[in-house]
Amino acid sequence: MLRKVLFWGVAVVFPLPLVLTYNTLAVEPEQLRFYVTLGLTAYAWWLLAIVLSVRPPWLERLVGLPSIYGLHGMLGVLAIVLAYVHRDNSYSGSQLAILLGDWSFYAAVTVLLFSVFFLSGWLVDRVRLLLSAKRLLEKVFHHQLSVWVHRLNLVIVAMIWLHAHLLVRVNQYFAFMMLFDVFTVAVLGLYVWKKWIAPDTYLTATLVSNQARGGSSRRLSVELDHAAASIRPGDFFFLRFEGAQAVSKEWHPFSVTDDDQKTLSFTIRQHGDFTRRLTDVSVGSRVRLEGPFGRFESIVRKQDADAPLVLLGMGAGVAPLLSLAAAHHTTRNIHLLWAVRDPQDAYYRDVLARYQASSDNRMHVTTKVGRFRRDDLAELLPADAVRNGAFFIVGPNPAVLANQRLLRKIGVSSRRIHQERLTM
Ligand SMILES: Cc1cc2nc3c(=O)[nH]c(=O)nc-3n(C[C@H](O)[C@H](O)[C@H](O)COP(=O)(O)OP(=O)(O)OC[C@H]3O[C@@H](n4cnc5c(N)ncnc54)[C@H](O)[C@@H]3O)c2cc1C
Repeated sequence: MLRKVLFWGVAVVFPLPLVLTYNTLAVEPEQLRFYVTLGLTAYAWWLLAIVLSVRPPWLERLVGLPSIYGLHGMLGVLAIVLAYVHRDNSYSGSQLAILLGDWSFYAAVTVLLFSVFFLSGWLVDRVRLLLSAKRLLEKVFHHQLSVWVHRLNLVIVAMIWLHAHLLVRVNQYFAFMMLFDVFTVAVLGLYVWKKWIAPDTYLTATLVSNQARGGSSRRLSVELDHAAASIRPGDFFFLRFEGAQAVSKEWHPFSVTDDDQKTLSFTIRQHGDFTRRLTDVSVGSRVRLEGPFGRFESIVRKQDADAPLVLLGMGAGVAPLLSLAAAHHTTRNIHLLWAVRDPQDAYYRDVLARYQASSDNRMHVTTKVGRFRRDDLAELLPADAVRNGAFFIVGPNPAVLANQRLLRKIGVSSRRIHQERLTM
């Protein structure tokens, strides 16, 4: 909790150098300085949102990807609020500065609304009708198109940078403008480095198997060129296929399905443009992996050794849970619950039976066709698991939220529920 508060505290600290330098140097009336300060804070938050979008793995290990994306999104919203007040109360002699300010404001609002609907789960995970509308609209506005629309934020930042350079009210303060430019160049430089240079340093691997599993999933195994000691159970990577004609070169996140450090297996449900085309990616293709990411194992390690682990997976969401089970089935009490759409999707029954057999009665597995209801959970989970267990839920967002609610209703405290949602 403290970690998350400190992490959110970055939003307060990040704009300070710009704000303090400006307010120390500027001689404008206090009220005017206040509105400039709001504009500066909004700009600094947009820059910070860009920094977060590169998802540094060390930061992800500290606070988790949902927190990083959560702050990234909130900064976008708060920056718009500040920009609105700034724009409504400021004036300038430069027509171009005014135009750039206006365009960037309207563009930022448009991109924000678009991203909240298509990229975040803030609305669509909670309102079924909106989710159906999103799925329908994604037939035209493909996910990758939404990602590109989101990247327009970089153009917006460039416009605001120029807007600031045209304003006499700020550009007369040389030291401030230097700092302003250093901030901008450092953040955009980090982004460019992360997108185009850093991938050369990532793990590389060769696809060694690509098999169908159940009705609409595949298991892909990749052999790493060099074993990675930092991989932990429950981790996930962003994958990119190099030179494979079948799929785009965009990065997509998938969880490791077992605890092998050299050959990593991924269980992938095929439901969109990228995943459907994975069928055509041939063995021998080169793969690049960004990561590892994930906090499940560090959470497991913090639990009492005798606290049961309750692993609740939906469909391919079982992947990171299988990896946790592989690592802990001989030492921890585990209740693994797996909900699948139809019987043929229970493709890991044999693996689960194997772990169960070698667990000395520590591991209990329930596979169910259809979702778990409140009564199922109350019946399947013993009292000590409900009271002391550490719960890990993985699946599509709406299903994760629904299961979280059910667990709370049967008495599991929110603090002990950890989740990974299989969308952004
Ligand atoms: C931490 C994490 C771990 C995951 N692990 C697995 C796994 O082990 N197995 C599995 O089958 N799926 C996993 N996913 C989900 C998987 O990444 C997406 O389903 C996949 O990238 C969708 O690609 P697509 O081309 O099929 O769908 P698209 O047509 O591109 O999009 C369909 C929907 O998938 C989501 N999506 C698309 N691209 C991404 C992306 N890069 N990141 C997050 N969401 C995206 C969006 O909500 C979009 O609306 C995981 C997701 C996350 C965030």
